Amino acid sequence: METKNTWETYDEKQMQEVDAFAREYMNFLDNGKTERECIDTIVNEAEKAGYQELNALIAQKTPLKTGDKVYAVWMNKSIVMFRIGKKAMTEGMNILGAHIDSPRLDVKQNPLYEEGGFAYLDTHYYGGVKKYQWVTIPLAIHGVIVKKDGTTVEVNVGENEDDPVFFVSDLLIHLAQEQLEKKASTVIEGEALDIIIGNKPLIIDKKEKKDGEDQTEEKTEKEAVRKNMLAILKEMYEIEEEDFISAELEIVPAGKAREAGFDRSMILGYGQDDRVCAFSSFKAMLEMKETERTACCILVDKEEIGSVGATGMQSKFFENAVAEVLNLLGEYSELNVRRCLASSCMLSSDVSSAFDPGYASSFDKKNVAYLGGGMVFNKFTGARGKSGSNDANAEYLAHIRAIFEKADVNFQTAELGKVDLGGGGTIAYILALYGMNVIDSGVAVLNMHAPWEATSKADVYEAKRGYMAFLEYADL
Ligand code: MN
Ligand code: MN
Repeated sequence: METKNTWETYDEKQMQEVDAFAREYMNFLDNGKTERECIDTIVNEAEKAGYQELNALIAQKTPLKTGDKVYAVWMNKSIVMFRIGKKAMTEGMNILGAHIDSPRLDVKQNPLYEEGGFAYLDTHYYGGVKKYQWVTIPLAIHGVIVKKDGTTVEVNVGENEDDPVFFVSDLLIHLAQEQLEKKASTVIEGEALDIIIGNKPLIIDKKEKKDGEDQTEEKTEKEAVRKNMLAILKEMYEIEEEDFISAELEIVPAGKAREAGFDRSMILGYGQDDRVCAFSSFKAMLEMKETERTACCILVDKEEIGSVGATGMQSKFFENAVAEVLNLLGEYSELNVRRCLASSCMLSSDVSSAFDPGYASSFDKKNVAYLGGGMVFNKFTGARGKSGSNDANAEYLAHIRAIFEKADVNFQTAELGKVDLGGGGTIAYILALYGMNVIDSGVAVLNMHAPWEATSKADVYEAKRGYMAFLEYADL
């Protein structure tokens, strides 16, 4: 089987649509470097498109009907959207799923210290990172600090051109002889990923009488750089050092997503795993027409650390929301929730590893995704003997093939890489627990989990087209 290059399938009008969609997507990436920021953007756009908040409808006991659009957010980090179809919910939904958390460095709870004249923030990395990739690049701080009285201070520093940035230092090459002998996995250790946030001491004016004259002498104190940081943070955010305890601060690469290549065919940006699938799924949800089956889109947190926690896919948040929606439709029962979920079809979307000619031996060329090759389907993921994978049914794959052919969507099938080299998981197996049809799908990414990841504009556009076709036609 040969993979068609998606670019070759487009006419002039589609080429323009590809570029327009890429611009929207890059904008989304720039405004959403944390889960919370993504949720803000998504909720704003969803409300503009007529989506109503589930909790408000519950409080007002507003019944739902065909065509209604409703969303529920969980702890500002996960969201589920429903568009009620013509058929009963118990006949199943068509569900799009993706995750909005990305690998990064998280600030610890007692992070601030001074060493050698620098003020540092201590970090613990989140998700799978090649630690050596995170040194000497400009970093930004995004997140929230929640004070004891419940007020939330939003932090976003390092993105505007006149903002300061932060960085992790690395040893100069001139002295790196020993360091360079180390294995790549240990050359930069996790505890070495603390970011430098300042170098200037707090200077206190101290008046002293000398020979009967006033003389001003500037004196510095112990840990004066650290103290200066606290003074600046107090001034900027009105916070005390203890407020770090209840903060979620994420250190991410600073700067905007960019077009890549002379032909501008690619996008280089942070956090494309998995915001590329989240964005294209979300947009498909907004652009779709009214459908027979209820359409659903779930965008979750914590995938990169095992889908755990109240906002991860393993949380009952999604199931609870389905129960509430059924209730507002006047159809709730425990059995109906189960029937609805068991009869559903899902595209569980996450990024797939794109073939990298520089590392060709890591891939099976016949079963790998190519950048520009269209939307990707992974019948299974997992590692070493498909372990931990959701292996989609052949019957379901046949159904999906038929839908994509009908909608003329370019797609490719792939595995992550060569069989014994490693692997990765997604949220697919969690939804499959309900007995529904689930398949892993998504967009190919080069340099996955690096500070800057690359995708093809054509694949991003094609994914949205694929999601729309799925929402409209899937029914198995
Ligand atoms: Mn992912
Ligand atoms: Mn990932």
